[in-house]
Amino acid sequence: MNGHFAGAGENADFEHGVQIIDEDKNFNPNLPKYLSAQGITKAGFNYHLISVFGSQSTGKSTLLNFLFGTEFGVMSEQERRQTTKGIWMSKNKKEQTGMAENILVMDVEGTDGRERGEDQDFERKSALFALATSEVLIVNIWEHQVGLYQGANMGLLKTVFEVNLQLFLKNAKNVTRSLLFFVIRDHLGTTPLSNLRQTLLADLQRIWAGLSKPPGLEKSQIDDYFDFAFVALPHKILQPEKFALDVQKLGTRFREGYVDPKRAALTLDDASQPVFLPQYHRRIPADGFPMYAQGIWEQIDSNKDLDLPTQQELLAQFRCDEISKEVLVAFDAIIIPLEERQAAAIDAGTPELIADLGNTMTAARETLLKNFEEEGSRYHKGVFKRKQTELETKVDGRLKTLFTAQLNSAHKIGIQEFSDSVSAAVKVGQKKGGNYDFHKIVQTEKQKVLKKFEAVARGSVIAGSPWSDYKSQLNLYQKELDEVSARLRKDEMRRLATRSERWVRTKLSEGVGLEFNRLGSGRAGSGAPAEGEKPPTEKDLWDRIWTLFTETVSHAESRFTERARGFDASPDEVEVGLWRLRRKSWAALRDKIDEEVMEGNLLLKLRENFEDKFRYDEEGVPRIWRPTDDIEGVYTKARESTLDLIPLLARFRLARTSAPPPLDAWIGEAPSAATPQDEEDLQPIGGIDEEEGKSLEEEMTVLSEAKRQDLATRFKKTADGVYVEAKRSAIGGVTQ
Ligand code: GDP
Ligand code: MG
Repeated sequence: MNGHFAGAGENADFEHGVQIIDEDKNFNPNLPKYLSAQGITKAGFNYHLISVFGSQSTGKSTLLNFLFGTEFGVMSEQERRQTTKGIWMSKNKKEQTGMAENILVMDVEGTDGRERGEDQDFERKSALFALATSEVLIVNIWEHQVGLYQGANMGLLKTVFEVNLQLFLKNAKNVTRSLLFFVIRDHLGTTPLSNLRQTLLADLQRIWAGLSKPPGLEKSQIDDYFDFAFVALPHKILQPEKFALDVQKLGTRFREGYVDPKRAALTLDDASQPVFLPQYHRRIPADGFPMYAQGIWEQIDSNKDLDLPTQQELLAQFRCDEISKEVLVAFDAIIIPLEERQAAAIDAGTPELIADLGNTMTAARETLLKNFEEEGSRYHKGVFKRKQTELETKVDGRLKTLFTAQLNSAHKIGIQEFSDSVSAAVKVGQKKGGNYDFHKIVQTEKQKVLKKFEAVARGSVIAGSPWSDYKSQLNLYQKELDEVSARLRKDEMRRLATRSERWVRTKLSEGVGLEFNRLGSGRAGSGAPAEGEKPPTEKDLWDRIWTLFTETVSHAESRFTERARGFDASPDEVEVGLWRLRRKSWAALRDKIDEEVMEGNLLLKLRENFEDKFRYDEEGVPRIWRPTDDIEGVYTKARESTLDLIPLLARFRLARTSAPPPLDAWIGEAPSAATPQDEEDLQPIGGIDEEEGKSLEEEMTVLSEAKRQDLATRFKKTADGVYVEAKRSAIGGVTQ
């Protein structure tokens, strides 16, 4: 389709301007290209649009080419046929000092009806199009036509007024004033311009009065809508130099100025007054003009009522969407890589922090909104505001996602770091002998990671945005740090408990081992007892073990309590810990006793015990058996004494009460704070864990009945062996 248009295609083809509308009334889609080639697209409101009207072959194109340096087609003197078809546009090429920037001139096909037969369709449509877009309408007229009220040019003006009323009817609040600038050609000079002006104004009033006005506008006046200016030019061919001079002078009027709209009509007769007054500007931004012009033309051409406000809103919507897309390009270039990095980090499960996120986001957002405002605010205010909010919501949603993900990463990294650094510090403390302050470690590390999180959060916000407040995320973070602290403290409690248990186990192993070793001597406590103390006897073996046990555990308990309090363990946690310690200690004691009474161990001890009693006299001197000695008597006494140990060892019983130790009372009830998890690794204890069906009596049974008998039998055999040997040695001694 582009091919149909003259001036379509590459920039070089725009030499004669651009044909906006061709003779078949098609709108040229290359208009944006033309404006961009002329450097006007970015001009905002800094451009002007003027149109020229008049009968065919009245020198319109010639005038424009002289005024603006354009190259509109001009009829050659010889051929005399129509040259301008449709509507052409060209930028002012004169760049004459004193002229406004970016003047766009529309050269409209001659409109005397003659050229297109009686078809006035194009005449009406082009008049409407020019009125809807142009600030200044140049009406080109021969001097000799002035006053010829029936002339073709008057028909044209009637058309202009009619379509103007039509426009106002539909767009009462939207149509701006226009300047009708009459250029009277071939002025002989005999009739002064002021007279011509009077005649024309009178004619215009008459035309206006003769119009059938739509309801509501019956009383309207011509100058409610139009300002008028007049200028006369000499004959171009007869007075070429004067013509050129006057045209140049006329050119200087095409500049911007400000005149109170109420006084404009009066001042415009001054030949030095500017014609581009703000009240004439259509306020369509340059970048939206092609789209707007096309929309208007299509409405006009399809004979729809021209609805400018709707056109302006449609234009605003379209352009604001386009501008959004444009400003998003720079924004995306900065933000998408960050979004991708975050997405990849989340996928990989390795949280990552983006440095300087807040500043980056703030800058990208500010640039985006500033650029959008710069381009978009020229359009329909309501639409612009709405699109601005849409754009803001859209980018803020994305930025908020970045921000939230950043905080999540900071959260995860911080929790991990906290947990790691506490564990590391504990390890160092343990290596240095275990005398570290767990509470202090936790507090120090917590402060460190809290500070880091806050720094990340502060560096990731967009100042003044609704999410610059990250309190709730910080609260969440603190809560999890507290949870992790509690978990780490539990671990530390476990470690403390393990250390305590190990210590108790070692102490018991030594102490109980010592007690059992004493059995081997046959005279428990053969070492000299301290002054005033009753010498230990075999009878109160268990009393001594119980005392050793309770004292050892009690010592461990107070150390445990002290350490646990040191790192803020709750009274409940301490209570549970102590209870577990007592139970585990008992299990350790039982293990040690079981080890001591293992068959071989015990049999050995009994044999030693017996031999000690049999082979040594009361003073501890070894006996040399003589045949006369009562070997049998000593043997029986020693054997019975050792055999008496078996029932004593078989049961954990205190000599002073002749009852089992008060284990249940000593361990105490399970604390109410104890959880099933706390009990999980505990061995059941008879008489305490009732559901196990084992009585305290059974718990205190060290040797079963069968074991006792077996032990007794084996011991007797061993003793018998010793006796026989003694007997032999006695006889042997005699024979020697
Ligand atoms: P348009 O159809 O109104 O654009 O008229 P053109 O600019 O094509 O000119 C039509 C004819 O009028 C050409 O032959 C021009 O040489 C001639 N012409 C141009 N300017 C003047 C003028 O000021 N006076 C007279 N008498 N003829 C002119
Ligand atoms: Mg022409």
